[in-house]
Amino acid sequence: MMKKKITILGSTGSIGTQALQVLEKLGDKFEIVGLSAGKNIQLITEQIKKFQPKTVCLQTSEHAEIIKNNFPKMEVLCGEHGLQELCSDTTNDIILVSVSGRIGLKPTLTAIKNHINIALANKETLVMAGNVVMQEAAKHNVEILPVDSEHSAIHQCLTNKDGLKNLIITASGGPFLNKSIEEMNKATVEQALAHPRWDMGKKITIDSATLMNKGLEVIEAHHLFNVDYDNIKTVIHPQSVVHSAVEYKDGSVIAQLGLPSMHIPIQYAICYPERIEGIKTNSFDFAEIAKLTFETPDLNKFPLLKLAIECGKKEGSYNVCLNAADEEAVLAFLEGKISLGNISDIVIDIVNKHNCVNNPNIDEIFEIDKQVRLETKNLILNKYL
Ligand code: MG
Repeated sequence: MMKKKITILGSTGSIGTQALQVLEKLGDKFEIVGLSAGKNIQLITEQIKKFQPKTVCLQTSEHAEIIKNNFPKMEVLCGEHGLQELCSDTTNDIILVSVSGRIGLKPTLTAIKNHINIALANKETLVMAGNVVMQEAAKHNVEILPVDSEHSAIHQCLTNKDGLKNLIITASGGPFLNKSIEEMNKATVEQALAHPRWDMGKKITIDSATLMNKGLEVIEAHHLFNVDYDNIKTVIHPQSVVHSAVEYKDGSVIAQLGLPSMHIPIQYAICYPERIEGIKTNSFDFAEIAKLTFETPDLNKFPLLKLAIECGKKEGSYNVCLNAADEEAVLAFLEGKISLGNISDIVIDIVNKHNCVNNPNIDEIFEIDKQVRLETKNLILNKYL
């Protein structure tokens, strides 16, 4: 059997390392063509020794130089240009985009233009440029397979688009679900990072605490599945066993369930449409799980969920603004400069002041992103420090 050729962008991150665990388990079904890493030299060195990629890309030329000296026979690239080159290698069957932040957008577009399928674990790609990315994917007949558990669930349940009534996206509710607004707003970084169900990167964990993450996922779902915002519902489900569901016009609801482990949606995306034995998880036992609960999200307590859906509906550059303001505010919180409650105040403030650009192209998107980040930093500096 032909091996499927894969490149992983962001192989030392949370999704990247879990993807390599899946690939290790799947053994000779895959060949790892390329890896990219940020600054974690130690981990990428271990990964190179173990998986022997053809090409590796590091964030900086200094780091690339270190790797090049240690692995003289391997092709070593660096920076954004290097990522683009990795994504131009048409020997790849699929590229897993698991870098975080806006850096994922351009390489994803490059891979699409080169007719390489995408396993997408980068939120910014669809939040910032959903229209452009989905248009390019359709034009080049490229499949975008979501890695996020919610979108993976919908991808698995949505087998009849004509019969669709609503997408139902579940949210764990994060660590402050049962805390008061006051307690939540003055939570420490440590408390906010203690997610009850999922072990993820810092930015997404904070976004999960404020439910901004769910708002971003609604925007992604709108683009990925071409569904109106009015037909995308969210529901709090603290056990994170039902990963999302699809409601059909005939009244039937199909949900995807599984134990909360990212190995499953990662494997689904990279193996699609095949279902094969992967990393052993315990057999699913309804009786052991016993109780699954659901509740409506409190939009007063989590205003960023509401704001994200409003931005999505307004279209234009609102999502670019929302995303940039949130990332800067989360960073300021992680650095101890502002409180958790300040994040939503800041993001709402910046979005309300935004001068929307309709149908922005990629250059405009990056320019708006840059401007909004500057504005957000200034707002934090002037009002909160
Ligand atoms: Mg998710």
